[in-house]
Amino acid sequence: MKSFVHQGSLSRIVFGVDSVQFIPEEIERLVAKRALVLCTANQREQAEAIAETISSRVAGIFDRVEMHVPIEVARQARQAAASLGADCALAIGGGSTIGLGKAIALESGLPIIAVPTTYAGSEVTPIFGLTEGGVKKTGRDPKVLPRTVIYDPRLTVTLPFSMTVTSAMNAIAHSAEGLYAYDGNPVLELMAEEGIRASAASLERLAMNPADLEARSDALYGAWLCGTVLGSVAMGLHHKLCHTLGGTFNLPHAEVHTVILPHALAYNFDAAPAAMRRIARALGKADVPLAVYDLARKHGAPTSLREIGMTADGLDRAADLAVSDQYPNPRPLERTALRALLQRAFDGVSPQA
Ligand code: NAD
Repeated sequence: MKSFVHQGSLSRIVFGVDSVQFIPEEIERLVAKRALVLCTANQREQAEAIAETISSRVAGIFDRVEMHVPIEVARQARQAAASLGADCALAIGGGSTIGLGKAIALESGLPIIAVPTTYAGSEVTPIFGLTEGGVKKTGRDPKVLPRTVIYDPRLTVTLPFSMTVTSAMNAIAHSAEGLYAYDGNPVLELMAEEGIRASAASLERLAMNPADLEARSDALYGAWLCGTVLGSVAMGLHHKLCHTLGGTFNLPHAEVHTVILPHALAYNFDAAPAAMRRIARALGKADVPLAVYDLARKHGAPTSLREIGMTADGLDRAADLAVSDQYPNPRPLERTALRALLQRAFDGVSPQA
């Protein structure tokens, strides 16, 4: 076995159906008293229902969350936290809502309790993003890692099935890339394989009944594992491509992950045999890129960049950007091969190793 370093996560995880009931004691555990509740306008009702049950601990509700954390919104939320005298943030929602919590924590050090309602995994990573002047910058800072994460599968029942699929594919992408990360280790490999297995298997059951709480629990468990992998190791080509496509061409986050993943795995297939063996075992299929492509297609998720808003004239620029700076990846970055990858993803044809 090769030598490794493992840093255990510092987040406290509270997992289970109806675990939102533990929010008051979790606030207390942080030696905090009044939380600023963060949510999107869409999820205001869900957030209000929770806030009502813990009203003495709520400083206020900020429901102006937007995708990609615009700096202006981050400033408004920071001001709201200060003027309402909040001493912690309670982020109820997906990656965008938790991202806003992180933007507050980055400046003020306010502790975050995250209550994730998608499978994006941001709640267990020290990675933050902020968009200023149309450019999204990301960074890592231990200050932004939520101190407590409350995973309540009941809150994910309202996630539409189409988003359930793309969000679970987003989670699978974290683990898939984690399995070939240069700074991985055997513990994270176990988590990654199990995360992929749980996420993929949950989709089969959720396709039949999106309200199946056991299946929702498995999906959220998978999301936790996959998110932990994302937060622990360096991501490669897939995440780089998705970041570029999302940021430069304004494509939706989970959908772009869903479309790109089979093609990124095909690109890296021969260069990462041990990772592919684990993903194959988790999915129960030998042809990993095709299995991932089929998983998305079978559940009605988008498979082409074209159908999620990309135009063909951006493909050359995307290929240029993909090779413009170096990042770790099992196979060297070759512009011609990457341009071909992007074309296949654009057309939505099956991946080719
Ligand atoms: P999101 O948070 O943008 O949510 C998308 C929409 O779904 C929102 O309108 C939201 O209100 C709604 N929604 C969420 N959960 C719901 C539920 N249970 N029921 C009904 N509606 C619900 O989506 P996302 O994919 O979770 O997050 C994407 C963002 O998170 C991107 O900006 C991405 O860059 C970021 N992200 C960051 C990290 C990190 O580690 N920093 C990790 C993953 C994603």
